[in-house]
Amino acid sequence: MIDASDQSLIDGVLAGQRRALAKTITLIESTRDDHQLRAGEVLRALLPRTGRSIRVGISGVPGVGKSTFIEALGLALIARGHKVAVLAIDPSSTVTGGSILGDKTRMEHLSQSLDAFIRPSPSAGSLGGVAARTREAMLVCEAAGFDVVIVETVGVGQSETAVAGMTDVFVLLQLPNAGDDLQAIKKGIVELADVVVFNKADLDETAAERAMQQMKGALHLLRAASPDWTVPVLKVSAVKHAGLDEFWSAILRYRDAMQASGAWEARRSRQALDWMWALVDQGLRHRFEHHPAVRAALPDIRAAVAAGTLPASAAALRLLQAMD
Ligand code: GDP
Repeated sequence: MIDASDQSLIDGVLAGQRRALAKTITLIESTRDDHQLRAGEVLRALLPRTGRSIRVGISGVPGVGKSTFIEALGLALIARGHKVAVLAIDPSSTVTGGSILGDKTRMEHLSQSLDAFIRPSPSAGSLGGVAARTREAMLVCEAAGFDVVIVETVGVGQSETAVAGMTDVFVLLQLPNAGDDLQAIKKGIVELADVVVFNKADLDETAAERAMQQMKGALHLLRAASPDWTVPVLKVSAVKHAGLDEFWSAILRYRDAMQASGAWEARRSRQALDWMWALVDQGLRHRFEHHPAVRAALPDIRAAVAAGTLPASAAALRLLQAMD
């Protein structure tokens, strides 16, 4: 059931009102059960108006220039008539409660534009929970008329996987030195990239060119050849606003190629199904943890497993049976 105040949130979001957009995302981020229920209804009402954006994931180590790049790109896209939302998944906040990404002074110019909406990472919960809320926030931004949604994250494997799992195209932002390449290769992030970009090319063009060649070599080894797409390796200078047109052309080329082959829709369908199962997993886990019989049995079983007197497999079976 949708009450009058939630209906006004829905109407406000659909009318592109920033206040309604921000309030709806706050509702989504709330961990209160009643808020979660309301958020679910609001999202369901908005769902038919979602899906019409390009969802771009951007990742890179701290200092690579993500906020500088996203701000420059966002302003360029707005100048072309786009509306740009920027969301973030900050894995550090889930561990320490602190934040590598989310301070308010980032993207100062972009945040002043009425055609931009910038939302820092949800600051509490597991990475899965943060990703869940970011994905839903993305849908709300789409319903509010944002036709480019950028989701940024910072390099620690799992958060990249989460972002690649909710976006249409995943961009790896790199620095032109080999150490950085190796890190990304080691963590398996290069395998996720649909586009690789070397930033700060203004500092040393030769180093940038060399890094690009090395990356092309690594991509050749790491990625199975696809008839539809060869991962482009580009260079930009975010501070000088150089290379942004080429970058956006690569994104549009990617979209056109994927839409032509059907891979665009297939990726979104797969993401929606993965998403459903992730939510089922979460829901089951929640019910499990709150089940009275499980809660009653857990302390003894946990102690027995820790002491080595009960095999883990038998313990798991007993706990699951306690739910029946
Ligand atoms: P983030 O941590 O990835 O968001 O990185 P920032 O955008 O905060 O950038 C880190 C530093 O690199 C800042 O001092 C930027 O001014 C600088 N920077 C970003 N892009 C460039 C660039 O293209 N060239 C140069 N020379 N410096 C840059």
